Amino acid sequence: MTARVLVLACGGTISSTPGPNGAMPQLEAHDLVDELRGGASLRVTSETHSLIASSDATMADAVAIWQRVRQWSHTTPGGAVVVTHGTDTMEEIAFAVEALGVGPTPVVFTGAMRYAGSLGADGGANLRSAISVATSPEAADMGVLVVFNDEIHLATRVRKSHTSNVATFVSPGFGPIGYVHEGQARVVLRPALRFNVAAPTRPADEVSVALISVGAGDDGRLLRYVEAAGYAGAVIEGLGGGHLPSRLVASDGLAELVTAMPVVVASRCGAGELLQHTYAFPGSEQDLARRGLINAGVLDATKARVLLVLLIASQCREGQLRSAFARFGGYEQDGGGSVGRSGELRLPAGQR
Ligand code: ASP
Repeated sequence: MTARVLVLACGGTISSTPGPNGAMPQLEAHDLVDELRGGASLRVTSETHSLIASSDATMADAVAIWQRVRQWSHTTPGGAVVVTHGTDTMEEIAFAVEALGVGPTPVVFTGAMRYAGSLGADGGANLRSAISVATSPEAADMGVLVVFNDEIHLATRVRKSHTSNVATFVSPGFGPIGYVHEGQARVVLRPALRFNVAAPTRPADEVSVALISVGAGDDGRLLRYVEAAGYAGAVIEGLGGGHLPSRLVASDGLAELVTAMPVVVASRCGAGELLQHTYAFPGSEQDLARRGLINAGVLDATKARVLLVLLIASQCREGQLRSAFARFGGYEQDGGGSVGRSGELRLPAGQR
């Protein structure tokens, strides 16, 4: 393995060591790389982007990581990037970097569930596997990957599924697209389609999107406060195939919200694509589409929120936003077709 690899450290458990009151992210990129044995033939450049718990990661971090990947791929043709990151928000930051577009450059996120120095710490093994995937010719043109516990996942599908198990990353409904065997990457599936959003034209951190989860009997009163709280968009994590209680749908809150800003509906199921043409009851997927809600397709609410932030930050038009959800959501595969309204994106005053 002689490919040039940039290891970009962003904190998290993989960078954490025990302190008097508990573990804290303290290891820089060079500490992580130095720990790897047998990596002598690798030409690794190590850089520390941040030393944070990933609960503090923001869309500005995602944009900065994406910019560094682009810079690296311009200056290092044939090079690869490994991002070490906290697991709590890895699925969001990795998905954002993928959505912003990395071209053919292999970009692999990894992390750890057990901090450095603890029994059975998984950081070193995960980093080594991530480097072997990133430097494998099979990783080119795959988009952003998450390599964890010797499985290879697409950033567009992966999510953290367990609070503490080292096998926490899963791709529900899809599964991993490969694995690492005796230190070698095995890619057995490739993404059929990859899509990008336009680069942000305003700071992504300035765009706040509310994420509201809905349960049985919810009347949606929280929706009334979203605009006043300064949000630019909202994702509602609904039920089943993309449904909401009829009492919530009948409330003024939802109608006012849809008039004020883009509102996306996703499902709390965690796997599967939202329905579009099955049910007709109030609050059904067809009713919500008629009311102007945007269908998240296969995206879970967490990823739908990331996509909505990036799209609003790119100051796109409403038709472009709907089209992006149709593509990333998996229900418009050719990029053509109807994109609904194509006017200016309706955003609350002060959010444009
Ligand atoms: N709290 C850690 C984080 O930064 C958890 C982890 O990395 O597993 O996300």
